[in-house]
Amino acid sequence: MNTLKNFDFKNKIALVRVDFNVPLDDKSNITDTTRIDLGVKTIRYIIKNGGKCVVMSHLGRPRGLGFEKKFSLVHILKYFSKIFNQEIPLVKDFFNKEFNIENYLHDSNIVLLENLRFYSEEKENDKYFSKNLASMGDIYVNNAFGTCHRKHSSTYGIIKYINKYCIGDLVEEEIKNIEKVLYDNKKPFTAILGGSKVSDKINVIKRLIDLVDNIIIGGAMANTFLKANGVCVGKSLFEEDKLDIALQLQENARKKNVKIHLPVDFICAKSLYDNVTEVFDVKSIPSNYSCYDIGNKTVILFEKIILKSKKIIWNGPMGVFEIDKFSAGTFNICDMVASSTHKGTFSLVGGGDSVASVKINNKEKNISFISTGGGALLEYIANGSLPSLELIKS
Ligand code: ADP
Ligand code: MG
Repeated sequence: MNTLKNFDFKNKIALVRVDFNVPLDDKSNITDTTRIDLGVKTIRYIIKNGGKCVVMSHLGRPRGLGFEKKFSLVHILKYFSKIFNQEIPLVKDFFNKEFNIENYLHDSNIVLLENLRFYSEEKENDKYFSKNLASMGDIYVNNAFGTCHRKHSSTYGIIKYINKYCIGDLVEEEIKNIEKVLYDNKKPFTAILGGSKVSDKINVIKRLIDLVDNIIIGGAMANTFLKANGVCVGKSLFEEDKLDIALQLQENARKKNVKIHLPVDFICAKSLYDNVTEVFDVKSIPSNYSCYDIGNKTVILFEKIILKSKKIIWNGPMGVFEIDKFSAGTFNICDMVASSTHKGTFSLVGGGDSVASVKINNKEKNISFISTGGGALLEYIANGSLPSLELIKS
């Protein structure tokens, strides 16, 4: 796959797809700048090598019916401009015949296009929208790992209409580290999976069974597995229509000598907002209770496996960690992955909520690699590549 090094950017216009989809508070202030901070190295490289950058991104989930103030990239403009110590223009209304990007590039070597998803054509991978984007530059650079699994105009369609294309440094770094965790010859290899749904992650589990020695399962996902094994999970969240698949995955794992580790106790409550919590062994969950976090015995059980592992991939929290009283399981796992990493284990964490839990715990520096991809990471694991990257390869 071509990288930045394969092109001479001097006097060229680069179309850089970034993922500046940062979280904003209700006053539209950025609450976490990570995605911008990680994305700008590629832009800096292109500028340093004498090129100009047309930067494009999406932000949030606009309806695709035109401008919506809440989702305007104007909210990130100040921060973005400050990084480069120059005023970066925000380019609006760029999908029309009269539009000419050169008008904006006279005064600034970096310009930012307004939220791509103000146009429904972006997500529809519309031919004319893709062509319009492609016509603005000479070299397309995809530096938005988190959206590489989307077949949108700016990540996919555009590549058909431009001759030169490559990945940016962030995407290169993601691929290197994901490949490392999946394929480096270090054992035991443990996958820790959690979150709310099995359905999001079936193909990932299927693929991981070919690669890992252990799969630790927590979160509501564990409820589905336990239920499939005849355990009463009370009122806990589980997926009725995924019980068969859970058993099938267990059987696949058994055949391949992969151990699936399920929780043995839970922190439960009658409802999420009930102040009274109780711990129950997996065999004695009352029918009017729900499991919201893994219990202490489970933490100790999982700890043994995590500390013995040489490679770890973690996606999905162990419980409803957003609520204090159900956060201990997830935070304990976070600590253990950090301790294991300290002893030389290679660890990779991905997924919006999992990464958030690492950040709350201040453990970002204690994990080998933190992926910026949620869905993209899962799809990369499941399929060995991503649609946008396949086109860039070809
Ligand atoms: P990630 O963003 O890291 O990929 P997911 O989005 O798959 O993770 O899952 C995170 C969500 O799963 C969180 O909102 C969390 O509250 C929820 N969750 C975890 N455990 C449970 C549980 N036992 N019951 C209900 N929801 C849960
Ligand atoms: Mg999530």
